[in-house]
Amino acid sequence: KAKAYSCMVRTRIPGGRVTAEQFLAELDLCDRLANGTLRITTRQGFQLHGVLKSNLKETIRAINHTHLTTLAACGDVNRNVMCCPAPYKNNPVHDQMQALSQELADHFKPKTTAYFDIWLTDEDGEKTNVADFQPVEEPIYGERYLPRKFKMAIAEPTDNCIDIHASDLGFLAIVEGDAIVGYNVLVGGGMGRTPSAEKTYPKISEKMTYVTPDQVIAIAEAVVKVQRDFGNREDRKQARMKYLIDSWGLPKFKQKVEEYYGASLPEPHATEVTGVDDHIGWHEQGDGKLFLGINIENGRIKDEGELRIKSGLRAVLTKYGMKTRNTALQSVILCDIDPADKDDINSILAEHGIKGADELSLIRRYAIACPAFPTCGLSITESERVLPGIIDDLEVEIAKYGLESSKIAIHMTGCPNGCARPYTPDIGIVGRAANKYTLFLGGNAEGTRLCFIYKDMVPHADLVATISPLLGLYKAERNEGESFGDYCNRTGLEALEAKVA
Ligand code: SF4
Repeated sequence: KAKAYSCMVRTRIPGGRVTAEQFLAELDLCDRLANGTLRITTRQGFQLHGVLKSNLKETIRAINHTHLTTLAACGDVNRNVMCCPAPYKNNPVHDQMQALSQELADHFKPKTTAYFDIWLTDEDGEKTNVADFQPVEEPIYGERYLPRKFKMAIAEPTDNCIDIHASDLGFLAIVEGDAIVGYNVLVGGGMGRTPSAEKTYPKISEKMTYVTPDQVIAIAEAVVKVQRDFGNREDRKQARMKYLIDSWGLPKFKQKVEEYYGASLPEPHATEVTGVDDHIGWHEQGDGKLFLGINIENGRIKDEGELRIKSGLRAVLTKYGMKTRNTALQSVILCDIDPADKDDINSILAEHGIKGADELSLIRRYAIACPAFPTCGLSITESERVLPGIIDDLEVEIAKYGLESSKIAIHMTGCPNGCARPYTPDIGIVGRAANKYTLFLGGNAEGTRLCFIYKDMVPHADLVATISPLLGLYKAERNEGESFGDYCNRTGLEALEAKVA
């Protein structure tokens, strides 16, 4: 009997920009060819789960027909370029960042025609898009592509909603007045680790240099080429650029980038990340229109019981046809809304059980999870399916301590690969064994600091009871304006353990 293979199909979406037609097409695909759900990823893409192997071609062709693509959504190439999705208009900073995300995505898109040959040909072998079929060399990737996946991200300092420090290469905008005058170039971020391999570890990116906007593409190319030529190709566990930088040290890495770029590079600007915003709720867009951020728990767009996110989004997008943006906190922004339509949109969403910003706790809004079981072949234990229950219980504890106005970010994954960036928020929960997790503390919602391991092998059933006393300590001992992660970081592992004992 033939096996039935089920696959995940990921769409690459620079800056998370999606039209209503594209969104509706992905929703149709999830019903027609996947498991009936559509997932917004932690890197602003879409994922369809449960696509049968025999339906892959039809799925990928349908995505390409909407002018989205799965090309370079995975693989050892530059993947989706992340960028703050807030759709502020008449705002050169956001316009420039979004434009740069597209420019970087286009520049680093593989030139191969194989993708089109394999997926976009008709059954009789006829090519469907002749313009894409000219044989070309890969000027950046060469014959062997990169040693490992490569991630880029763009943010401005007051809003690191895309977790810039988790990417291999980040451009942090330096803003003067209402314009971007340059970018700090951050290198060497990456979340993945393997507990059995001590040589693997999560790392946040370091500031390497400052560049003007017109230098960005050339600098990015120099960085990618250094990783291409010197990244570890012998040991895949050591192949991300963070390991190259750590083995050389940042000065040597920068020197090599300068060599490839052809000029020396200045010291970075003093600017650092200072804030984060999930963009949930109604906001003035800056051009008389509004935008609405809708929280989607764990990014999973589905209809379940009274909460019918899929039908609600379908109804609004069909009626109004607005552009949308995916956020890196797995949610969606509806753009360009006429203020006169606000009440109607609110009532459509309410009819489908979709809650507004004021009805959701901050801990739920800032929580994200990877899919893990049952669709990720690497998962060790549950993530997406259990996080909502953990949040339910934590909401009770948070209310008990009166911490409702504290922005506490929780990221959860079903294995140490770290797809939901669990090593930088206030609380990271990482699958370690069946129903057991490593509990990380001491990062922050802004994603500027690595967590430390607080406890290993914590049973799922004990997670909330383990976190609760720490919330009590935070309430009692925090300094003015101190976040939960800052408190844990200041107090340190030993003192926390002693206080809880
Ligand atoms: Fe799968 Fe692990 Fe990534 Fe979760 S973190 S999606 S379990 S590989």
